[in-house]
Amino acid sequence: MERMRPFGETIFAEMTRLAVETDSVNLGQGFPDTDGPRSLIDAAAHHIQDGVNQYPPGLGRPELRRAVAADRARRLGLDYDPETEVYITVGATAGIAAGVLGLVEPGDEVVLFEPMYDSYAAVIAMAGGIRRPVTLRPGPDGRFTFDPDELRAAIGPRTRMIIVNTPHNPTGTVFTREELGVIADVCAEHDVIVLTDEVYEHLTYDGAEHVPPASLPGMRERTLSVSSVGKTFSVTAWKTGWVMGPAALVRAVRTVNQFLTFTANGALQLAIADALTGEADWVRAQRDALQNKRDRLADGLRRAGFDVQRTQGTYFVMADIRPLGYDDGIALARALPRTAGVAAVPAQVLYDDQDAGRHLVRFAFCKRDEVLDEAVDRLTRAFV
Ligand code: PMP
Ligand code: GLN
Repeated sequence: MERMRPFGETIFAEMTRLAVETDSVNLGQGFPDTDGPRSLIDAAAHHIQDGVNQYPPGLGRPELRRAVAADRARRLGLDYDPETEVYITVGATAGIAAGVLGLVEPGDEVVLFEPMYDSYAAVIAMAGGIRRPVTLRPGPDGRFTFDPDELRAAIGPRTRMIIVNTPHNPTGTVFTREELGVIADVCAEHDVIVLTDEVYEHLTYDGAEHVPPASLPGMRERTLSVSSVGKTFSVTAWKTGWVMGPAALVRAVRTVNQFLTFTANGALQLAIADALTGEADWVRAQRDALQNKRDRLADGLRRAGFDVQRTQGTYFVMADIRPLGYDDGIALARALPRTAGVAAVPAQVLYDDQDAGRHLVRFAFCKRDEVLDEAVDRLTRAFV
């Protein structure tokens, strides 16, 4: 199909394949190399053995919808009706896809922040929409943010939706209440819908607070919030997510998704429903461990000669390759598995603006300490 021609193999699949071929340390695709909470995994196995093996209801298991609603209310003060305002999907990926396909008409414009997670551009293209990226740039403190004037300039009469990913992959920015306030004002002024991607909502560091965009005044009624279980519990293969929003927006997602995946898994949903409250301590400990891993990798990359940007959340750090004498991140990331035995993701492929991300490479730190140390040793040998 013509409009899908630019989207070949995803960068994450390409770099993981290269890593396997070269026996590299894979700091490309973001997935942990340790398991989630034992009791969660045991509960899922138990439910399967106990016969929870047929289609769950179209909306998702009521136990999980209720648990998701209770968790949002308790942690973030947002109330959703589990019967009409929460819907379970096959990972955040399906929720994002069905949200865009269900709400964006051909020719509609979608504003989003670049670098952008790769599935956004693809599903906007599937919907026949037009993307209008606003570039995030590092400030003097190394934290990526946007210029409110650039956001306002990106909005036009055909803008239907803004996609907000916070904490943000790949920059690690956790959007502040002030930044989200700028977005909220623009949405109210132009009557625009917001689709949020909050899959890293629990993974914020140095006390940075995850603020759900729906919590800003006037935003709940125009926001479809998406999250999932993969990052929260280190179970990225479980592909279980949810969308939350006013019933009309959730209905639009459901209308599409019933023909994409129809429904999601059963036994995992039951296990996750319990873990959302029962494993809060595990999630906090995992967040603290990841903050240390961020520091471990960032320090190591600096020793190897990279300029490392500031990361407040997610699994990722962005590294500037120019101090090493390189300026083409795609070329470097494609060469790195063979020359250094380390795989990373070139940020440039996540931008429309080909210059803005040219010198940036993303490294994942959601790995065991010895794996991070091995990657740093290899990079240090290659560059220092
Ligand atoms: N959004 C972002 C920003 C991601 O990094 C990822 C990758 N995990 C996803 C969505 C996809 O999430 P899921 O695996 O739940 O589909
Ligand atoms: N979210 C992960 C990343 O950004 C994995 C993405 C994927 O493999 N589609 O690396």
